[in-house]
Amino acid sequence: MIQFDKVVKRFGDVTVLRELDFHVKPGERCTLIGPSGSGKTTILRLLMTLERVTSGTIEVDGQCLSHVKRGDRMVPADEKHLRQVRKKIGMVFQQFNLFPNMNVLRNITEAPVRALGVPREQAEEKARELLEMVELSDKALSHPSQLSGGQQQRVAIARALAMEPEVLLLDEVTSALDPELVSGVQSLLRDIARSSNLTLLCVTHEMNFARDISHRVLMFDQGQIVEDGPPEQIFNEPEQQRTRDFLQAVL
Ligand code: ATP
Repeated sequence: MIQFDKVVKRFGDVTVLRELDFHVKPGERCTLIGPSGSGKTTILRLLMTLERVTSGTIEVDGQCLSHVKRGDRMVPADEKHLRQVRKKIGMVFQQFNLFPNMNVLRNITEAPVRALGVPREQAEEKARELLEMVELSDKALSHPSQLSGGQQQRVAIARALAMEPEVLLLDEVTSALDPELVSGVQSLLRDIARSSNLTLLCVTHEMNFARDISHRVLMFDQGQIVEDGPPEQIFNEPEQQRTRDFLQAVL
């Protein structure tokens, strides 16, 4: 479903990802852990095409993100191609990123209507179903500023799911929340993940959530994977000293 091949990402002189290779199977739920600055968010931003690779290739569902085939040549992808790939991918951000000037319903329906051409009435019907799932049916006409952080994040989750993505990217989705709101959002995401066949890539500093939600945990350091395995192995019997040191510092 997701394939990174020798992906290098540099920002100026700083090399953030170093010839990174990894593969995620359809329906697999992976959590990326590791110290601050190890490149985890950059991986999600590359997948969302918010950043471009310096070299190497990323494929989603067999489609290369950065290049398209023209005759027998590969040429850099244009905006139309990127829009096509992006439709498969939903992302939920740490800071919610809702449209402040739109009510909740509009926040959820905007992308399906504009990007997928779904009739507004149909998009609203789906949005109301999603609002029921995230337990915010009574907030459909509220604006983001009238909601708590936890409620805004639930709207952001509903908004991502409204596009019916195949891949869901979660970037530290509970880091900006008050502590008492964290477990509600986490259990919502756990239920969504377990009841769907979404391919999930999750960056989190919450190790219990990582254990709960993932099939697989990838430990990053300095833009490379240092350990990759099921949560029981990574958390209970890490093989690498770097993983042991990291877990000792965060647990
Ligand atoms: P954290 O856990 O703190 O969020 P991370 O592992 O997600 O860290 P990234 O956000 O991917 O790390 O950042 C990796 C490195 O890339 C950092 O050193 C960061 O400063 C740098 N970086 C990220 N985005 C940019 C940018 N747009 N311009 C310059 N440097 C950047």
